[in-house]
Amino acid sequence: MTTAASTNFFEFLKQFPDSAACFRHIAVTKYGIELACPRCEGSHRLNSTGRLRQFYCYRCNISLSPTAGTLMGHSRISAWEWFYFLLLLANRTSGITVDHLTRHLGVSRLAAYRMLCLARLHITELRQMRRLGGQGEIVQIDETWLPNVIESSQRAGKGAIVFGMHDRLGVQTCVIPDRSASTFMALIDAWVSPGSTIVTDSHRSYHSLTKRGFQHIALNHSNGEWKKNGFSNVWIESYWNSLKYFLRSQNRVVKEAILPLYLAEHAFRHDARIDGTCPFQKLIQTFPMIDQAKLPLGANPKQSVRNGRAKMQ
Ligand SMILES: [Zn+2]
Repeated sequence: MTTAASTNFFEFLKQFPDSAACFRHIAVTKYGIELACPRCEGSHRLNSTGRLRQFYCYRCNISLSPTAGTLMGHSRISAWEWFYFLLLLANRTSGITVDHLTRHLGVSRLAAYRMLCLARLHITELRQMRRLGGQGEIVQIDETWLPNVIESSQRAGKGAIVFGMHDRLGVQTCVIPDRSASTFMALIDAWVSPGSTIVTDSHRSYHSLTKRGFQHIALNHSNGEWKKNGFSNVWIESYWNSLKYFLRSQNRVVKEAILPLYLAEHAFRHDARIDGTCPFQKLIQTFPMIDQAKLPLGANPKQSVRNGRAKMQ
């Protein structure tokens, strides 16, 4: 029986007994249940060519590979192993480390690191930015300092500031260059709907929110004020706690280039908990195109071989 919150291993085995089932699932997400050919406008069905990764249309004489360009494109790891890895990633509340994946799947550390980076890029593509709040809705906004973020592989932490907005449906986060009013207001104008009630701390960069037409509740934390007229910042504050725990569980330090991928992974899991959907089914509901150029350098096999050993996050 499928529970709302997760897919367990036995349900997974029933749904995906082998790689053929996984490929068919990806093809269905791309071409529809009837596997209609995208070239001849759905008038012909695609047939399996006998080769696992390919489907064929007899009318247009074309073969299509549903995994091309997705996180599994060009991978030598089987589709079933990829799906099993996505199941692990979805069901672990605090994520998977490279070491765990290396031991569990019997792949090299480099392959494990690449898989994790690709899955996080996949999640980033799945999580489109959405506008938060709305008339009468509460949006809690805060920023936090992550000290253990490094610029390159060697130097001590230079840190990073992460900006977060949380409404009753979930969270949006991004890395910001500074705590200036112009940075905050550009993000709020872009992503918070008019008519929202915004709860922040008393940082002066938030002072113009009332002028911009929002109802603004400023909590003065230095005076011990954590709640005012029933409003608090508890959603976003507890999100920061769980994000920091997640990042610590991954590694001692985080590379700046890979931080947005970690932010997307954690926010994905957090939002799935709020809306009660199954994170694994969400991960496999569509297979967006992945720009592999966005992979961090450490996930590039050539560079890692030259360095003797892949530098892991
Ligand atoms: Zn066709």
